[in-house]
Amino acid sequence: MLDVGRHPNIELMAYCEVEGLEGEAGDFRVSVRKKARYVDEAKCTGCGACTEKCPTVVPDAFNEGLGERRAIYSWFAQGIPSTHTIDPDHCRQLNGKKCGICAKTCQAEAINFEQKDTLVELNVGAVVVATGYEVFDPSRIPEYQYQQIPNVVTAIEFERLLSASGPTGGHLDRPSDLAVEAEIEALEKKAKKGQKMLDKFEQKYETPSAQFYEAFLKGAYDGDEDRKKWAQKYEAQLEITRPLEALKKKAEGFDAAKKLAFIQCVGSRDFRFYPFCSGYCCMHSIKEAIIAHEHEPQTTSTIFGMDIRAVGKGFEEYKIRGGNQSGVRYVRGRVAEIVEGENHNPVVVYEDTREQKVKSEAFDMVILATACAPNKGVAELASVLSIEINRFGFFQTDPARPMDCTRPGIFVCGCAHGPMDIPESVAQASGAASRAAQVLIGSELRKAS
Ligand SMILES: Cc1cc2nc3c(=O)[nH]c(=O)nc-3n(C[C@H](O)[C@H](O)[C@H](O)COP(=O)(O)OP(=O)(O)OC[C@H]3O[C@@H](n4cnc5c(N)ncnc54)[C@H](O)[C@@H]3O)c2cc1C
Ligand code: SF4
Ligand code: SF4
Repeated sequence: MLDVGRHPNIELMAYCEVEGLEGEAGDFRVSVRKKARYVDEAKCTGCGACTEKCPTVVPDAFNEGLGERRAIYSWFAQGIPSTHTIDPDHCRQLNGKKCGICAKTCQAEAINFEQKDTLVELNVGAVVVATGYEVFDPSRIPEYQYQQIPNVVTAIEFERLLSASGPTGGHLDRPSDLAVEAEIEALEKKAKKGQKMLDKFEQKYETPSAQFYEAFLKGAYDGDEDRKKWAQKYEAQLEITRPLEALKKKAEGFDAAKKLAFIQCVGSRDFRFYPFCSGYCCMHSIKEAIIAHEHEPQTTSTIFGMDIRAVGKGFEEYKIRGGNQSGVRYVRGRVAEIVEGENHNPVVVYEDTREQKVKSEAFDMVILATACAPNKGVAELASVLSIEINRFGFFQTDPARPMDCTRPGIFVCGCAHGPMDIPESVAQASGAASRAAQVLIGSELRKAS
């Protein structure tokens, strides 16, 4: 990525969208919308001072909504270009409220609330589409209760939890526990505010609130309006501190998730959704199980699947290593349903097809290996580029030339073409770049002759 950013022959246009394409192979005119960041890329140093001060907190999409970010943010650390962006949907200033704290904080004077989208016209010889994929939405399989049971997560969410730069710093906190911790934090804030109010009364009457309240209940201050107000404030404070103490006690018993279940083919190899194999999910489940074990050696993982498709050099050995050294158990069987057990533990109900028995087992957390689905914007982009998509929603290619789209001069690579892992995507990207170079060389030769 850094190399791409520095390469003299590559112009990286991030935060842009292709809106129109005219012409033909060797001579395309592309209209690109450069979206307003409200931050001058040339001035922003990426210091993050603005983010620290921005008061607007929103769910962080990069962390799959498991963490939070501010209205001025960088999508992820080490992104290129190293600049920040204001989210126009949430920024107070851009929504007619008074703020502008980021502009006052930014020493580089990079904030520009007046910035507008601009349209850039490019003349190119060929186009390579590399728009990737989206993970299948597992709430389409109601028996897995993805939205209902908090400790059922997708593999991509689990990756963010495992990541040292993720919302938990790589600690495998269970989402049900994280929700309680967020509730504690919110109640603590309220309690702090309430205590400030009580402090004023305590100072005025030189008595702790609890002691005063005991006397108040015995009728010691009947008719005293000020003390009545104090008693009401104290009661309101008890409404906060009682559940707060109970939650804190509950949180003392929280521990990292150590017993994990991975469910394969969620939406893949399923005729209701995508009949094909997503190719990479068996390996990413094994990888995630091994990493979880590296983080915490007591962790065990059970991978439920019809079979494990370890297709690739060294992949089968990696699978065996998971079983021998990282506490990974492979169970052949399709999971019928997940129900919620005690302590928000997901209980997996499945048929062990080797023993031909229906069994159930409780886990700390269940991870769904969701199918590789076409990107949401695929149909729109296909229409802009006048290329076809196949019946599953991936870009249609020529069977004899797997990178060639249905319009000459437009090529595709990676998961925009169909499910594939990173090495295969990279190899295909090289192939697509070579096909594009052939078009460019051909058009140069035609011009010269
Ligand atoms: C949980 C999980 C773990 C995985 N782990 C591994 C692993 O360990 N090893 C491995 O080999 N593979 C792994 N994979 C698979 C890997 O993610 C894919 O192989 C890889 O991301 C495909 O790369 P890509 O460039 O084709 O697509 P993507 O990575 O999806 O990149 C596409 C890019 O295009 C951008 N884009 C989309 N639409 C537009 C548009 N209209 N205009 C401009 N930009 C656009 C997107 O924002 C995105 O940045 C994993 C997948 C999952 C779900
Ligand atoms: S906008 Fe300003 S304060 Fe924010 S990261 Fe860029 S230089 Fe730093
Ligand atoms: S104007 Fe306020 S809300 Fe908007 S990004 Fe700046 S600090 Fe955040």
